[in-house]
Amino acid sequence: MTATNIAIVGVGKIARDQHVPAISGNARFHLAATVSSHSGLDGIDNFETLDALLAARPDIEAMALCMPPQVRYEAAAKAIAADRHVLLEKPPGATIAEVEALVRMAKAQNVALFATWHSRFAAAVEPARLWLQDKKVRHVSVIWKEDVRRWHPGQAWIWQPGGLGVFDPGINALSIVTRILPEPFHLVSSTLEFPDGRDAPIAATLRFTGDGGFEVEANFDWRQTGPQSWDIEVETESGTLLLRSGGAEMHVDGRETLREDDAEYDGIYARFAELISTRDIDADLSPLIHVADAFMLGRRVVVEPFA
Ligand code: NAP
Repeated sequence: MTATNIAIVGVGKIARDQHVPAISGNARFHLAATVSSHSGLDGIDNFETLDALLAARPDIEAMALCMPPQVRYEAAAKAIAADRHVLLEKPPGATIAEVEALVRMAKAQNVALFATWHSRFAAAVEPARLWLQDKKVRHVSVIWKEDVRRWHPGQAWIWQPGGLGVFDPGINALSIVTRILPEPFHLVSSTLEFPDGRDAPIAATLRFTGDGGFEVEANFDWRQTGPQSWDIEVETESGTLLLRSGGAEMHVDGRETLREDDAEYDGIYARFAELISTRDIDADLSPLIHVADAFMLGRRVVVEPFA
């Protein structure tokens, strides 16, 4: 088995924290280059622009696009046109239609396209889906509250249009809920709290209704200091499932049934290798659709400025 040469495009927090170690730990990939306008990585060939890399390195077959969502489409379209397999960090783009366009392009070009949702690779997500698959859901409660200063230090793009604000983490919760529930659901109300002078919300309260009549309530907040909360509780007619710590822990009727350390990005790269081998597309847009709906139906409240 020869390793696929891969390049990371956009060397920021997530590239350094997760993509570099996950690629290094996967024998199916070799980190061959980066595209970074600033620093790149020690000992790895760096290009200032994607165009320069695509022209100079036809041997690099795959790209992991780790930049903010607002600039992902342009890079992905160029990489696909140049016949490269593409991994999109979440959210896969700034609009739904642009990601649909990427899917069409990847199909036409016969390259792999992977719109990743890293939280879906948390250890308890698949066991939760299996536990819920034959259950009748009554009510779902999602609490996703974290400290924006801790997780996005100095990042301007998250407050700009397309940066999603609190939906940047909130979409992770939605990626889990859309994966584990046995039936689809749709938004019925949304309240968005925008800090005065900002273009993206710092908090959101959402209500959804499921096809089977159940309700999903979600509270996203970026102002939480101290312990962070990433919990999803699903009440069914035959017991209650609780996912904690972003999907790393599962509890059934108050009893812990699983707790496993973070291996989300190892799962992502194992899946990307599969998709490359069959030149397939994995692009579920349902979490992004719910976020778009939340903006469409959102009642906007202005709250104190974020400094
Ligand atoms: P970040 O630290 O701000 O890094 C993004 C990198 O993208 C920058 O360092 C820059 O790389 C490049 N870039 C290209 N165009 C840019 C632009 N117009 N504005 C800013 N940066 C630009 O962001 P991040 O936290 O890594 O997040 C990147 C993506 O990963 C987002 O979609 C985010 O939702 C996702 N993600 C983040 C986390 C997290 O914990 N932070 C977790 C999971 C997923 P160069 O300096 O190399 O040019």
